[in-house]
Amino acid sequence: MSQPDNGTDNTKGRMVRDVLIKPAGPDCNLACTYCFYLKKGDLFPESNRHRMQDDVLETLIRGVMHNAGDQVYFGWQGGEPTLMGVPFFQKAIDLQMKYGRGQSVGNGLQTNGMLIDQNWAGFLEKYRFLVGLSLDGPKHIHDRYRLNARGKPTWDKVIHSGKLLQDKGVAVNALTVVNDYSVQFPEEIYKFHKSGGFSHMQFIPCVETDPNDPEKAAPFSVSSQAYGTFLCTLFDLWIKDFKNGEPTTFIRMFDSMFYSYVGLAAPDCGLKKNCGNYVVVEHNGDVFSCDFFVEPEFRLGNVLNNDISRMLNSQQQRRFGKMKAELPEKCLDCAWLAQCYGGCPKDRIRDKQDQGVNHFCSAVNIFLSHADPVYRGLADTWAKKQAAAQQISPTQPQTAKSEGKVGRNDPCPCGSNKKFKKCCGAGA
Ligand code: SF4
Ligand code: SF4
Repeated sequence: MSQPDNGTDNTKGRMVRDVLIKPAGPDCNLACTYCFYLKKGDLFPESNRHRMQDDVLETLIRGVMHNAGDQVYFGWQGGEPTLMGVPFFQKAIDLQMKYGRGQSVGNGLQTNGMLIDQNWAGFLEKYRFLVGLSLDGPKHIHDRYRLNARGKPTWDKVIHSGKLLQDKGVAVNALTVVNDYSVQFPEEIYKFHKSGGFSHMQFIPCVETDPNDPEKAAPFSVSSQAYGTFLCTLFDLWIKDFKNGEPTTFIRMFDSMFYSYVGLAAPDCGLKKNCGNYVVVEHNGDVFSCDFFVEPEFRLGNVLNNDISRMLNSQQQRRFGKMKAELPEKCLDCAWLAQCYGGCPKDRIRDKQDQGVNHFCSAVNIFLSHADPVYRGLADTWAKKQAAAQQISPTQPQTAKSEGKVGRNDPCPCGSNKKFKKCCGAGA
């Protein structure tokens, strides 16, 4: 979602590097039980069909390309973005080319897979989209909550779409929500993804407020303790699969957390000190501070009337960014502060019983108590390799990169031997 550093210009502050776009707003062809975004339709009551119009798309892309440095990333999300159809995305690519100034442009698409066919797969491969496919694991886990509006299961279609994409050579990540049920099956899910050819995985712990009782978390939310245990098992499986000291599977949170062990800023925004490095654009051009704060008080403006760079660099967005650093007392005294930074602010407010502390605080404690010695060993090995590569002594002070910045063309700190932009930084 966010990048490890942000370029600046002299007039407007940070350049635009990451934009998350919801071209079909909250509209979706599924009705997953735990979805937090479907209800955002209430924000746009003028119609129950939300589609980005051509003038919004063109103004948006022109503004982003004009205000971007040499690299920019468009994340297409929803709702379900494939509801827009391939011609809409072809238009987006044409506009990126029209308004580009020789920049390197990345596109990512997050999809539930329901509409993926040969035509989509060919398009996504042609333009090198990184696809995040929502797949919670084997059938009994996926179909627990990922249902269509008629309550019908979706696993078979998603698996078919995943194969189609892989066969075309599209880069696909498995996006897996960890909920009250799936948390019991870390090994089964990991092995399932691996055997299905999904070597890149992202696990998203679920906590939402109970719609029937705003004083507590919804029943499908995962408990912090259970999530901590889940992470420990997953971590052991991940480590067991290392070959020649390098990972063979990529789990975003594990890769991201490793950054803090080598003195770098994590690519995962939830593990950073501050938020506010990217913006979300809704179908009508409204711009918001973050995917999880698409709410009137976090609206920054509209691309048809406001400059996107000014919105990103506005006082309002800077205030939002600092909200993450307003930590509860418990975090300030915590041994894991440099790894966790209090987690994502939305996880501090979904369950009132957490009293403003990260819902996954005990998960972080359980996980890092388990993984910390291993991470330290990996960091040590990495530092030695870096030193050897740079032909400097491991004790010699390192370059600016060790001060929290890693370039997109630098080796990925996770040890994969790939460039950062092709590994943990892809789609970040
Ligand atoms: S609120 Fe959470 S998801 Fe949004 S930018 Fe901050 S850490 Fe990231
Ligand atoms: S582990 Fe808990 S106390 Fe420590 S920084 Fe994270 S949320 Fe705060």
